[in-house]
Amino acid sequence: MSERSPESHRLGPLFDRVLELAQVRLGMDIAWVSEFTEGRQVFRSVTGDHDRFGFSAGDGGNLEGSFCVRVIDGRLPNVVHDARTEPETSRLAVTADLDIGAYVGVPVRRRGGELYGMLCCVSHRPASALGDSDVAFLELLAQVVGEQLDDQAEIQREKDVVRRRVEQAISGDALSMVFQPIVGIATGSVIGCEALARFSGPPARPDIWFADAERAGLGPALELAAIERALASLPQLPAGVYLSVNASPSLLLSGLLMSSLGAVDAGRVVIEVTEHAAVDDYDTLLRAVGDLRAMGVRLAVDDAGAGFASLNHILRLRPDVIKLDISLTRGIDTDPVRRALAGALVGVAHDMGSTLVAEGVEGQGELDELKALGADAVQGYLLARPGPLPVQLGTPPKV
Ligand code: C2E
Ligand code: CA
Ligand code: CA
Repeated sequence: MSERSPESHRLGPLFDRVLELAQVRLGMDIAWVSEFTEGRQVFRSVTGDHDRFGFSAGDGGNLEGSFCVRVIDGRLPNVVHDARTEPETSRLAVTADLDIGAYVGVPVRRRGGELYGMLCCVSHRPASALGDSDVAFLELLAQVVGEQLDDQAEIQREKDVVRRRVEQAISGDALSMVFQPIVGIATGSVIGCEALARFSGPPARPDIWFADAERAGLGPALELAAIERALASLPQLPAGVYLSVNASPSLLLSGLLMSSLGAVDAGRVVIEVTEHAAVDDYDTLLRAVGDLRAMGVRLAVDDAGAGFASLNHILRLRPDVIKLDISLTRGIDTDPVRRALAGALVGVAHDMGSTLVAEGVEGQGELDELKALGADAVQGYLLARPGPLPVQLGTPPKV
């Protein structure tokens, strides 16, 4: 056997499990799935006695001198009970090289019938008991393998489509930003603006775009692209109005933000940490955040009260701003429990020397309640929907 293929050409653990089942059921020493490609067979998944046979997943061999090609073209049956005495196999070099006693092999086909390769089992000992039921069992497994290969190829195609879509958004003009004002309760005037991403093609929801990008390994790149577009609008904001941008911990940890923020007045920027999952390593995150804070950037914890993670973020990151999640704002004027939770978070913010911004304010009753609880600022459809700059407040609410 020769030539090692890249690791990426190996099949996954499911295929190893299928091969183990084949090997154990037939009592053989090794089992594999190979792919036929350009006159060679490449072993994509191998279980059993790699050492004595001398090959493992990723290796390739000549197809011409193999048992497998002979099964496909009809020179050999699916079962060879004793390769050392069978005329067609006894003179093949591979019989002696690999010390082959018994062999069972069946073709692996894609759903359309196209030949992919072979699923085979081999033992050093001859095995006279192997028969039709063993071949039928392997054929069943080969069918599962073929269907899985099709499914994996489909998933990969879909991933490639998403990846290209995200890459185009990053470098092209499908991604633009809208801005939603954040209004100070004491003054009724705009103190900041949150930049939110909009995409010209489907999916419609920006959070789905960011989740797709994350799965394609492009999460931080897309977030950075959104932030850079938002920062480019900073000169259009009135003096004294801050710009709030969204960033996941992985973007913060990547260090990618440093140079973008180095080019602007970082004292006018608030970074909202958007993450609903637990953060494993707060020490590293704190160092990354510390570097940004040293530049003058302020930090907000987004969606506070929406889950356990946001409370941990508050405890560990000690943000300058707590953004009360929409789920606590909604109906706060009619629900004493929401009121109690929001009031507690206002207290936490003020005890830390931070401010609390309530998101998703849609009703005058919600705004009145937040004011009574001591919230510092509000954001929501009652004041303005996200839109292009310059931001405009709707009918002035009674703050
Ligand atoms: P988020 O950061 O919590 O943003 C607030 C969301 O609430 C925005 O939805 C905003 O349009 C919406 N909203 C504002 N006021 C109200 C209101 O009064 N009522 C209701 N029902 N909704 C309101 P949007 O723009 O669809 O964004 C959804 C999520 O997508 C964001 O949640 C954020 O997690 C993510 N996202 C959006 N833009 C960006 C971005 O540029 N970068 C990153 N990393 N994430 C983004
Ligand atoms: Ca946000
Ligand atoms: Ca939020």
